[in-house]
This record gives sequence, structure tokens and C-alpha cells, in this order.
Amino acid sequence: MNTVFKTITENEDNTAIYEEAGRIIRVGGLVAFPTETVYGLGGDALNKDSSQKIYAAKGRPSDNPLIAHICDIAQLDDLVSDIPSCAGDLAQKFWPGPLTLIMKKKAGVPYETTGGLDTVAVRMPNHPVALDLIRYSQRPIAAPSANLSGRPSPTKASHVLNDLNGRIDMILDGGSVGIGVESTIIDLTGSKPMLLRPGYYITDDFKQILGDVLIDPAVANITSGTLPDENIKPKAPGMKYRHYAPKAELVIVSGEDKKVTEKINELISQKEAAGIKCGVITAGEDPALYPKGLIKDAGSSDEERAASLFAILREFDETDTGFICARDLSEGRLGNALMNRLCKAAAGRIIRV
Ligand code: AMP
Ligand code: MG
Repeated sequence: MNTVFKTITENEDNTAIYEEAGRIIRVGGLVAFPTETVYGLGGDALNKDSSQKIYAAKGRPSDNPLIAHICDIAQLDDLVSDIPSCAGDLAQKFWPGPLTLIMKKKAGVPYETTGGLDTVAVRMPNHPVALDLIRYSQRPIAAPSANLSGRPSPTKASHVLNDLNGRIDMILDGGSVGIGVESTIIDLTGSKPMLLRPGYYITDDFKQILGDVLIDPAVANITSGTLPDENIKPKAPGMKYRHYAPKAELVIVSGEDKKVTEKINELISQKEAAGIKCGVITAGEDPALYPKGLIKDAGSSDEERAASLFAILREFDETDTGFICARDLSEGRLGNALMNRLCKAAAGRIIRV
């Protein structure tokens, strides 16, 4: 398949591109597009064949449900059978934005979109290209992250091209995304609301509307730095898979600043002595602290780190690095979301000093 690559240019008339992209979605094809979190791989959420194509293009396990993206709150009626009143309040405050809500699905939403579940994940993205694409397609758009399954999520159109060229119909390039980690997921179908995936919004942000939000125990364990007990099954099926993994072995070093630096330098010296090319993911420190290895700085604030982490993991894949040490990134508001991704990328390998 030939993948058409189109750049959306601000202040220019992009109507012809959106009309073509919308038509592709309506006839059951796939279009990758930017959102404020990561790039998504979109298909008609109400067409089972489109959802099946998304799984095939990504190599995604079919029990890992997709998020339906909408541009207008009225589209909830096509997707959700029973809209809880708190969903309206959350939508008012957080949409468009990086919050996904899990609710009971309508009969017309294919099980192919929901990974066989009776619930559906919905969000309204806060990105003009995403919103225009949904508008022109006249459909809710099912879209997981636009990466090959298991790889870091794409934060630039070039990442999508690397993974999915020849596997999808079209890529809309809208530049780099703003946030860089995927949406916060809240399940509204239980007796109490539950956080299934940490993201830009944290549980405190929902206090006013939802009161206390439970945290899926499988997620809480990942966030605190250990892989969950195998008996604890995450409520968001996607959270059980290895994800974001770079080709190199990745370990996280956590603890007091000075000790972390010493440990990283020690590990890098050992690996280099064994002939392995090494890398370090730093967190805004002076690069002179790390005399060996290829240094990539994630940034000194949590927002910078969120925006750069996935791109850094991909950049290492373009080198012959065999071993990467990352500093703990748990500091700041987005620390939980970042550690959740980093722990998965490292397959749970954390060294505490
Ligand atoms: P991605 O868009 O690639 O970030 O993947 C979507 C995430 O949403 C995955 O972790 C899914 O497991 C989760 N998800 C989607 N629909 C549901 C649902 N109905 N219930 C629980 N989790 C869901
Ligand atoms: Mg994903």
C-alpha cells in the first residue's frame, strides 16, 4: 500500500487534504494524525473492518481496545448507552483535552473497537488537526497510538512514517505534539471512579467533580517502581503489555542524586569494558557529570521530560547503543505518568541506590 504523507500548514487552506483524509476514514481506510498527547492511528470507530485494520497495521493484540475520538459532545450519543452525569461535568472541564473516559458502550459500537468489552473509551482531543479530521470524516475516530505495537509512542510524524509506512493510507503531519504522554484514563463504570492509566491529569485534578478516585492496583504498582504482581490484571487491557521498549537494554537508577550519578557511571564503565555501547538519559543535569556514554537529556522540568521521552527512546534505536541507563523521572506533577512509561520501557528493571 502507498502511504500518502501530507503536511498541514497553519494559516493555509488545508481543505482539500482534510476532504481526502475524511473520505479515507468514511470508506474504511486508516489515517494517522497528531493529537496533543501523541500521534494516533485513526479509523471509523463504528466500522468493525476499520478497527480490524488498525490492529493489523500496528500488530496490536486484538484484546487491547481502542479509544474513540470525538469533536463534539453530541457524538457521545453514538457511542455510549448510559452517560453518567459526572461525565458531562468532566467533559465540560477537561474536554477538549488529554482525558479518556470509560463508559458503557452502545450496541452499535463494534466489539472489534472495544476489544470485546461492553465498555467504550472516549475522548475529545485538544488539537486542531485531530478535531478537523473528525469533523470532515463525520465519524467518531477510533485511534490508538500510531506506533508498531510495543515501540515507543510517536510524538512526530516522522516516527509514524518509520513504523507504519506502507501499512496505512495516509499520514497527516501537524508537527511535534505538545504533551508527549498518552491521556489519563478514568473508568466510570464501577461503583467508584478508577484511574486506569496515569497521564497529564492527576487524580487531584478530579477531586472537585469525582471526590476520591481509586487507582487500579496494577497501575499503582508500576508507578511506585516495581512490576505488578502477575496475578493483578490491569483493568485497561493495554496496560498489561510490554510497551515503549527501545532495542537496547534499559535500566532505571533511582535514589539520592549523587548516588544515582555514581551508580550510572559505574554501570556504564562496566558495560563499556565489556564492549557494549552505552547511553544515559539525564534529567537536566550538567552533562560533565557523565564522562562516558551517549548522553541524551530529557530536560529539567517534568513537562519537558514528557515531551522528549519517547523521541529519545527512538533516537537510541537509530544508534548502536546496547545499554541505556535512565535517571528516575518521578519528580513533578507528571512524574507518575513518566515513571509508568519508563518502567514499562525498562521491563521493570529499577536499581535503587
Ligand atoms: P493507546 O491509544 O495505544 O494508548 O491505547 C488505548 C488504551 O486505552 C489501552 O491501554 C487500552 O487498554 C485502554 N482502553 C481502551 N478502551 C478501554 C476500555 N473499554 N476499558 C479499559 N481500558 C480501555
Ligand atoms: Mg499505545
